[in-house]
Amino acid sequence: MQIAIDGPAGAGKSTISKFVASEMGYLYIDTGAMYRAIGYKALENNISLDESEKIDAMAKESEIELKITDHGQSIYLDGKDVTGKIRTPEVSMAASKVSAIGGVRRSLVELQRKIAGSNNVIMDGRDIGTVVLPDAEIKIFLTASAEDRAMRRYLELKEKGTETSYQAVLEDMQKRDYQDSHRAESPLKAADDATIIDTSGQTLGESVQLIVDFIKSRVQA
Ligand code: C5P
Repeated sequence: MQIAIDGPAGAGKSTISKFVASEMGYLYIDTGAMYRAIGYKALENNISLDESEKIDAMAKESEIELKITDHGQSIYLDGKDVTGKIRTPEVSMAASKVSAIGGVRRSLVELQRKIAGSNNVIMDGRDIGTVVLPDAEIKIFLTASAEDRAMRRYLELKEKGTETSYQAVLEDMQKRDYQDSHRAESPLKAADDATIIDTSGQTLGESVQLIVDFIKSRVQA
């Protein structure tokens, strides 16, 4: 069984995917964390985000692993745990930039399909239903108004102690969504056979429940 969840930033994809994975014993694959790891590495190495060829070469020689730990899932880059470093606003924007590079996408899509293998998986991202797992049995395109998504992300960052404002989060999110939906390679869009779920006006808790119920009904059907 393969479940694909796509949608714009802050729609609640990862919270929902983690919950479904633990409830149903599925493997959760956070593809955004992989693009974030490459964006982080480019920033760390002072590689300009416009230097596509350099970043492509860097991605090809990078080792990215998702590991299950006591604290949930961790992402390792070249053998080092970078989980705590990839959620900053700077890395979000860098991830969006490097994800527009065709070679980077090809390397990561290959890795994502390899990890999925023949496991029961729930994978979230922007191109899962359209490109990575086109035959997934369940495809969900999760969305919500930009204001709702920005508020959820703002509260999340605030809780972690990151200094920012709601307005800055909203602007970053809108810029990232624009870039992600307008790039030439695998832009963010709903697969033709995806179920579109709009969670505007709901709390994250309410939308998690709605989607878990939807997935369970489809799995049992
Ligand atoms: O999902 P998350 O916000 O962590 O993703 C960070 C960035 O990685 C996105 O803004 C997008 O540019 C990119 N991404 C992508 N394809 C995916 C997952 C993420 O292009 N499958």
